[in-house]
Amino acid sequence: MKVIIIGGGWSGCAAAITAKKAGAEVALYEKTDLLLGLGNVGGIFRNNGRYTAAEELINLGAGDLIRIMDANARHKNIDFPEHNHASLYDVSKVEPDVRKYLSDLGIEVNLIARAATVEMDNRRIKAIKLQDGSLIEGDVFIDTTGSTGAMDNCSKYGNGCVMCVLRCPTFGSRVSISAKAGAADLYSERVDGTPGAFSGSCEVPKDSLSDELIKELDEKGSVVLKIPPEDVNSDKLNIKVCQQYALQQFAENLVLLDTGHIKLMSPFYPIDKLRKIPGLEKVRFMDPYAGGKGNSIRYLAAAPRTNDLKVIGVDNLFCAGEKSGFFIGHTEAICTGSLTGHNAVRFAAKMPLLVLPNETVIGDIISYSNYRLTTENGNRIRHTFSGAEYFNRMKKIGLYSTDNGEIKDKIHRLGLSDIFDKKLV
Ligand SMILES: Cc1cc2nc3c(=O)[nH]c(=O)nc-3n(C[C@H](O)[C@H](O)[C@H](O)COP(=O)(O)OP(=O)(O)OC[C@H]3O[C@@H](n4cnc5c(N)ncnc54)[C@H](O)[C@@H]3O)c2cc1C
Repeated sequence: MKVIIIGGGWSGCAAAITAKKAGAEVALYEKTDLLLGLGNVGGIFRNNGRYTAAEELINLGAGDLIRIMDANARHKNIDFPEHNHASLYDVSKVEPDVRKYLSDLGIEVNLIARAATVEMDNRRIKAIKLQDGSLIEGDVFIDTTGSTGAMDNCSKYGNGCVMCVLRCPTFGSRVSISAKAGAADLYSERVDGTPGAFSGSCEVPKDSLSDELIKELDEKGSVVLKIPPEDVNSDKLNIKVCQQYALQQFAENLVLLDTGHIKLMSPFYPIDKLRKIPGLEKVRFMDPYAGGKGNSIRYLAAAPRTNDLKVIGVDNLFCAGEKSGFFIGHTEAICTGSLTGHNAVRFAAKMPLLVLPNETVIGDIISYSNYRLTTENGNRIRHTFSGAEYFNRMKKIGLYSTDNGEIKDKIHRLGLSDIFDKKLV
């Protein structure tokens, strides 16, 4: 049984692991020279409701990537505005560990291997065709190509190609495999109806900061700097992906986080204005390179899917991560990825597919995001355990917990302990 995964971000890596553990032969194709996609920037995890989700993953038998994140954490259990008990993994160190982990499990990892299109047999994918013309056949396929860019979208709905970590000019554009297979893409909107949203943060090199700021960030993990009143731009809150940070505090202050590089919690920031802030007089951007002017545009390519993460309209295609809905986050990508890899094997083995119950935050966010798309302006809501609408829901319905014992008992009571660790074929 061969499972083919297209896209090596956190969701594709998680899918590869659970499909392999379930007993399939697994090959993953990633267009760039790095796994983890957007996970090579970012780094925040275990903040707010992501803590509960991480512990659920561990108890479901899919804690592999969370453990790698924990092992690469530069800071643990820190707070910054509206976010509690966050960990920050080192974005410059985590990828090689994930790559080694996948290879050690026996997963075939193909880098600089961009899928250009699909070959179909009615509603069934027969093979993916790579950019070099080779055909890759499989029994079941998983689309984890994300939703970022490509350059034409960043130009049309953003401020141009900003040279982000996905490096489309070099490795080629993202391809929506589900759309190529016949399932039309769903897209998210901003509050004014413009399609897509700006990624919400940038990275600057740590050594471009003053010594005092570096010392404070090394010690505390986060620093909050006041933005001069004449430069406060609240409009930026409405255009960004991350509704969990769309708070006035993030307009009036610049939140800096130490993820190995320094994460600036703003979608973009004119460099001359940034250099007015004490400690940032010599700062420049490293991701995206054009962070003074814009950021990548996301959420233009979700696939219609059921709550077992099978793509509607294509017989043998599954999805996860940003591809499976308007989910924001590394943890969210790993949660959906873990379920989809497991279900791809169930599908190929003709076993019933698993839908995680709503007593789990993972099951609940997957079904809630689908439900929300049926409601008015539902495509303007992006979902994350870490804040905004979905975290409020978690708290309201009693799903938020930081009690490891309680989470373990719940997964045990539901009969789901280590389910993703079990061999199916
Ligand atoms: C600047 C920034 C900061 C962020 N910060 C955080 C944070 O601190 N914490 C957090 O939890 N989340 C953060 N996020 C969000 C988070 O990174 C993403 O939601 C999550 O990592 C998405 O994972 P994914 O696997 O769905 O997609 P992606 O990471 O986009 O992965 C998709 C992969 O598919 C590949 N691909 C695309 N097309 C093809 C093709 N045709 N053939 C082969 N490969 C293809 C891409 O190269 C990419 O590697 C941040 C995002 C950005 C942009």
